[in-house]
Order: sequence, then structure tokens, then C-alpha cells
Amino acid sequence: MQNIAVIGSGTMGNGIAHVFAQYGYSVTLIDINEASLVKGLATIEKNLARQVEKGTITVSINDVLAQIITTTSIKEGVSKADLVIEAATENEAIKLNLFKELDECTPTSALLASNTSSISITKIASATKRPGKVIGMHFMNPVPLMKLVEVIRGYSTDDETTKKIFELSKKLEKIPVEVNDYPGFIANRILMPMINEAIYSLYEGVAGVADIDAVMKLGMAHPMGPLQLADFIGLDVCLSILNVLHTGFGNPKYAPCPLLANMVQAGNKGVKSGQGFYKYIAGSKEIVVAERFRK
Ligand code: NAD
Repeated sequence: MQNIAVIGSGTMGNGIAHVFAQYGYSVTLIDINEASLVKGLATIEKNLARQVEKGTITVSINDVLAQIITTTSIKEGVSKADLVIEAATENEAIKLNLFKELDECTPTSALLASNTSSISITKIASATKRPGKVIGMHFMNPVPLMKLVEVIRGYSTDDETTKKIFELSKKLEKIPVEVNDYPGFIANRILMPMINEAIYSLYEGVAGVADIDAVMKLGMAHPMGPLQLADFIGLDVCLSILNVLHTGFGNPKYAPCPLLANMVQAGNKGVKSGQGFYKYIAGSKEIVVAERFRK
């Protein structure tokens, strides 16, 4: 496998393109939005420069960037791909349409992977005529730094596809872990109820924002408390994944905390909106508890 097409040039897509290019693969980065491609490439260049400066990698930035071409045409971008990794917006209709199109435009031997956080791989595969070659390749954010790849086998994903994705992940010096296709896979099935419970603890007045995070950082050696992590992931994303778990299992234990739903409705989505449980000031690394949660 040498030709990799990445669909979506946002947070995850540019990180995935970065890693493949760094390890010598030919990458086509595709997005419907030209501005996203420009921003994605600029982010890759900035992140490579940071890694080189820190001495964590020794590559020529120009050589890595030369491995990446960009296009807004899916049909052209995927026509020679051995593997397509879809990292477009988390929306089921968008992904089903994309996979139907990918099935029509890629070589029949190509593997089709999705980086989805919560949409069923089995459902995505049902939009194609090659469900055995459709798989989840769930990278973590930030992709260049995080070692895990959650490899999700849909109901029909075949052994050969899984084996190839395992081998490829190892070539990127990532650690693949095999998971079956059930709501939230493993990462979010375990992480999101913890975040939800932290929000319930705040909602019920058991402790304040900084204290809840301090307990989990100092007591459990988590690098970041659950409320800060929720802000980093995006509170809208957390809410949507909890809804997938709640609907998928039909179990009230996954019901999102009403405070989380309120915050999202009010536009307080965490780091990306400047405010969640904490307040974020552009250009400043300092984080302070959002005013309404101060004691
Ligand atoms: P993002 O919003 O940063 O980027 C999505 C990009 O997809 C945008 O540039 C958009 O223009 C593009 N896009 C939308 N529809 C498209 C289409 N039809 N064709 C081509 N491009 C299209 O999103 P993101 O955070 O990078 O998330 C991408 C995927 O990765 C989602 O499935 C998400 O669940 C998953 N994911 C996200 C994270 C995270 O921490 N952000 C972590 C793991 C997995």
C-alpha cells in the first residue's frame, strides 16, 4: 500500500495526512472546501516544524510536504488509491454518501476506512458493495503524537483487511488495537460515561470544576481532568457521542447530563467556542474556571 487518500482536511484529516507523509507514503488530501485544504497544509507545516524543533523527528519538512497533493475532487483524488481514510465531518448522511461514491470511484482492490468516533462501521459499509474491505481506523487527537489506532471491524470486515490495517498502523509506529463494531467502540464507550459522570457531579453540586479535575489528575494520574478534556474534545461532540451510546444500547445509564445539553444549546462548546467548563483566551495558555462555575 503506497497511495493513501485522506478525505477531510480538518483537525483529524490533516493529522492523518501528516503522519502518512512523514513515513514516506504518497498522500492525496481531499476536502470539499478549498480553504480547509490551505489551512490543513499550513497546520501540517507548523506541526512538523514544532516536532523538528523539539528533536522528536528528523525529517526534511519540504520532503514531507512534497509527499502531499491536495484536491477538491473526490473522483480524481481517490482514482489510484490503495487505501482511503475518510475523516470528514461526523454526520451519518455525509459518510453514507461519501462511501457510496468511494465504492464507485476507487479501484476494486482499495480498502475503505473511516475515522468516525461513533458511527457504525457496519452501517457505513452497507453503502458499498465491498463491506469486507470497509473498516474503522480511529486515530486519536493529536494524530502525530498519539500512539493508539482503534481498528474497528464491522460485521462483515474480512480478516485480510484487518491484517493489512494492523501492519500499516505499525509501519506508522502506531499501536493498533482490534475492536468490534458496537456503539462508542471501546475508547468512547469508556471515556464518555466518565466525562458524563464528572458533569453530573458538578450538576449535583458534589464538587466544583477545578476540584473534580484535581481528583482525577492527582488521584488517578490522568494527565487532564475529565471536564477539561471534555472542553478539549468539544462539548457538542461529547453530547453527540453520548446520544449514540444512549440510543444504541437503549440503556438510561448513557443519558447525557442535562447540564451538558444546556451548555451546548447555549453555544458553550469548550475550547473551540472560547468557553466551556473553563474560559479560554486566545494566545494565552492560562485556563480559568468559567465565571458561572466559580464558587
Ligand atoms: P473537522 O470539522 O475539523 O473537519 C472535517 C472536514 O471535513 C472539514 O474540513 C470539512 O470541510 C470536510 N468535509 C465535510 N464534508 C466533506 C465531504 N463530503 N467531502 C470532503 N470533505 C468534507 O472534523 P474532525 O474533528 O477532523 O473530525 C473528522 C472525523 O474524525 C469525524 O468523523 C470525527 O468523529 C472523527 N474524530 C475526531 C476526533 C477529534 O478529536 N476531533 C478524534 C477522533 C475521531
